[in-house]
Amino acid sequence: MSDTFLPYGRQSIDESDIQAVVETLRSEYLTTGPKVPEFERALKQHIGARHAVAVDNGTSALHAACAAAGIGPGDEVIVPAITFVASANCVRYVGGEPVFADVDPDSGLISPASVEALLSERTRAIIPVHLNGCPVDLEAIAAIARARDLIVIEDAAHALGASFKGHPIGDSFYSNMTTYSFHPVKHITTGEGGAVATHDDALADKLRCVRDHGLTRTEEGFINPSPGPWYYEQQVLGHNMRLSAIHCALGTSQLARLEGFLARRRAIAARYGELLASVEHVKPVADGPEGASSAYHLYPVLIDFKGCGKSRAEVMARLRDLRVGTQVHYIPVPSQPYYVERGHSMEGLPGAAAYYARVLSLPMYADLIDEDVDRVVKALDKVLHG
Ligand SMILES: *Cc1c(COP(=O)(O)O)cnc(C)c1O
Repeated sequence: MSDTFLPYGRQSIDESDIQAVVETLRSEYLTTGPKVPEFERALKQHIGARHAVAVDNGTSALHAACAAAGIGPGDEVIVPAITFVASANCVRYVGGEPVFADVDPDSGLISPASVEALLSERTRAIIPVHLNGCPVDLEAIAAIARARDLIVIEDAAHALGASFKGHPIGDSFYSNMTTYSFHPVKHITTGEGGAVATHDDALADKLRCVRDHGLTRTEEGFINPSPGPWYYEQQVLGHNMRLSAIHCALGTSQLARLEGFLARRRAIAARYGELLASVEHVKPVADGPEGASSAYHLYPVLIDFKGCGKSRAEVMARLRDLRVGTQVHYIPVPSQPYYVERGHSMEGLPGAAAYYARVLSLPMYADLIDEDVDRVVKALDKVLHG
């Protein structure tokens, strides 16, 4: 019997999740309705946020956050060079320009010194990314932002369940807004889905308005007198970013399982750490700053490909033959043709280049069992040194 294929990440769905979805399909509301605020309430409780606004994916969460922050043409937003393209694209959606900060070569996390060096008259916001689930130095980022009155939007697509200096990521203690993704590889899934958390009442109102075509539905907010109960007003341009009741029901069910998922991810990370200590030319990515507690979204390792005389493409292909899936997180965003075309480059980003050259994500997800972890490490050792 051949071994089952181990992807780098995947969802964990059980009967309780399936029941929650089926029950919603039999109910009155497939979108809007009670399942949406129910999910938002559960999420708020988990992350200690004052408001959580559910949206249709993590990219929309970033887009809505940029729109609510009032970022627009002429504005610069500092984004790490190592992240998923969505962390930068959101700035473009609202007409601003991302400016790419360098990262620590061993952790991949945004370098506060690099952020400081990129500040200009046009800088409006910073989007730190808690890469791999590990919080960035939020104290340093918050200090830079406070001195210049900048907005901070945490991209926490990887970091549901992480904390920094005792603050759960999402309570926005160090920032204005925090965004999440519920794509199947993330900590919890709704299929597609996302959310923005904030402690700011005015931002929460704006986020709900952006999510719903830019509509205002309460009389206190109207510019014109209301002619009757059918009335709503569009005062700004918004989008349809709503998350359906079906997705939200799955999200609430998944959130009830989050603590178990996180405990399993921590155990897997510990096992990898122990086993990899004896594999030459491989080391786990470095821990984050002091006080950072990771949620272990991904399990990337840094490999000295030159040292073992194999290319990354070769290693990935041979691991795939051994039924082990891996991925590279991420291709530096400023090296993407779209951004090169706009004048961006890898110049001044040696940390990002060094991280990208060595990184490879090994399988990490809640349903991965100890024997799978052992098999991954054995396969990696064999491919690199066999
Ligand atoms: C997944 C992800 C996103 C986008 O989330 P989607 O739900 O896929 O739109 C944004 N930023 C980071 C860092 C991500 O990993």
